[in-house]
Amino acid sequence: MGNTNEMMIEFDSRSCNEGFARVAVAAFVTQLNPTLEEVADIKTAISEAITNSIIHGYENEVKKIRIQCSVREREFSVSVIDYGKGIEDIEKAMEPLFTTKPEKDRAGMGFAFMEAFMDSVEVISSPGHGCTVHMKKKIGTGIIPFM
Ligand code: ATP
Ligand code: MG
Repeated sequence: MGNTNEMMIEFDSRSCNEGFARVAVAAFVTQLNPTLEEVADIKTAISEAITNSIIHGYENEVKKIRIQCSVREREFSVSVIDYGKGIEDIEKAMEPLFTTKPEKDRAGMGFAFMEAFMDSVEVISSPGHGCTVHMKKKIGTGIIPFM
């Protein structure tokens, strides 16, 4: 697509890379002149997806996480991809408060945050085939929340 701008990064699934990945995505989004709040929303959503790949997808084994971003007009799209164990029941996994690791102090709120902070969240996954979380957000819609 002529007016689409794309960026892709791939990095080891170490939690020390999470900050880097979040900032790299935020820097890419800058071209849309986002508000600080829009940047914060995107960073939060990206962090949740990366954390899920590290602790659920790979269960702390060090493998690769890929993030594909694109902007087209005002719309930012991002996919966070891992090649880990995958999700058996996606609908259930996305329910607020559902977690398969309650003993590890997980709240089961990651997908709920992604849905709250992004316009759309789509999960593609099956057991043994990894997980792709595809999210979209329109930047600069001019709607100021809480006012
Ligand atoms: P929290 O995000 O609040 O710390 P959580 O990670 O358990 O808790 P969610 O992020 O909403 O909650 O994820 C819900 C469940 O979906 C997880 O408990 C896990 O079973 C499954 N899941 C999420 N992401 C992945 C992934 N990348 N690979 C495999 N399973 C996943
Ligand atoms: Mg989570």
